Amino acid sequence: MTGLDELPVRDDLRGKTPYGAPQVQDVIQLNVNENPYAPSAALVADLQRAVGQAGLTLNRYPDREAVHLRTSLASYLGDRTGVALSSDQVWAANGSNEVLQQVLQAFGGPGRTALGFEPSYSMHPILAAGTGTRWVGVPRQPDFTLPAELAVAAIEQHAPDVVFVTSPNNPTGTVTSLEAIAAICAAAPGMVVVDEAYAEFAAGPSAVTLLASHPRLLVSRTMSKAFALAGARVGYLAASPAVVDALRLVRLPYHLSALTQLVARIALARTHELLATVELVKQQRDRMVREIEGLGLTVVPTDANFLLFGPFADPPVTWQRLLDRGVLVRDVSSGPGLAGWLRVNAGTEPETTAFLSALEEVMQ
Ligand SMILES: *Cc1c(COP(=O)(O)O)cnc(C)c1O
Repeated sequence: MTGLDELPVRDDLRGKTPYGAPQVQDVIQLNVNENPYAPSAALVADLQRAVGQAGLTLNRYPDREAVHLRTSLASYLGDRTGVALSSDQVWAANGSNEVLQQVLQAFGGPGRTALGFEPSYSMHPILAAGTGTRWVGVPRQPDFTLPAELAVAAIEQHAPDVVFVTSPNNPTGTVTSLEAIAAICAAAPGMVVVDEAYAEFAAGPSAVTLLASHPRLLVSRTMSKAFALAGARVGYLAASPAVVDALRLVRLPYHLSALTQLVARIALARTHELLATVELVKQQRDRMVREIEGLGLTVVPTDANFLLFGPFADPPVTWQRLLDRGVLVRDVSSGPGLAGWLRVNAGTEPETTAFLSALEEVMQ
């Protein structure tokens, strides 16, 4: 058998590790920030009907421009943010990861630089590597906040082609103020991507409200988290129509399957029902914060559906002891600036109870 080391893989990919949280069956999964609520019977019935109908035309390629879906997404995002958006300001792909990859294909690449504020979403540097974009990771403050002065100084020093700001940030839950994001946009010589994967869980306003005044701003979103649709793989962004035109240059033809477009639209028609779970998730998150702190641990202030907790002397050992008790959390402790921390997302009430009891046992 030929090993990976023996293949003529690109030099800049040698020695890299693929993204991947462990996928363990038959445990309580609180490690990838999913919404714990499965689709309702009514939604599943809608899907069955629609997919059955769509089956009749699967010999045809899907709408390459996903116009219906982008129109629905523009309307959803407009309702949420109070900013009127048209479908030509919205782009969609197979998860926001594909959207972000397309952004780097169009605006990054060999000889170009992307910059992010760490710790943050570990996929951003991996997508940079895959597209041959140089990555600059700039440390956040010790409390994981991102003050405008820190961000602006780093941008002036490195003059990046693409800046990533994740807000609320993964894995810390930290929100970056709109004032700081506006300052970042003003300082950045290139494009600014605000990754708002968890925006529906946050109290504050969206960076979508800055789009009109910042033509090089891109705001990415996903249906994987609050919308409880991780399995369907649907992400999107809002930006100027010119940015959307740039992404068309790099997207694969017919990249969003007819079934994906359809499933997303059917889910969006039940936005109210799906987002009703956000309040339940936040209640369990707030309960987790209180009870974890009650065990004498520290929780980083969070505006997302997950939290960072610790410190632990040996996080992998604590992670394993929780797994031994049937609860899977995320060991992020090997990431930059994350020594000692674990991450967990809120589950249903029984799942959250199981996690808290397991943690209490482990802490004894
Ligand atoms: C989960 C997550 C995403 C979502 O990825 P999808 O490809 O849409 O599932 C994007 N950004 C961040 C920061 C995330 O945590």
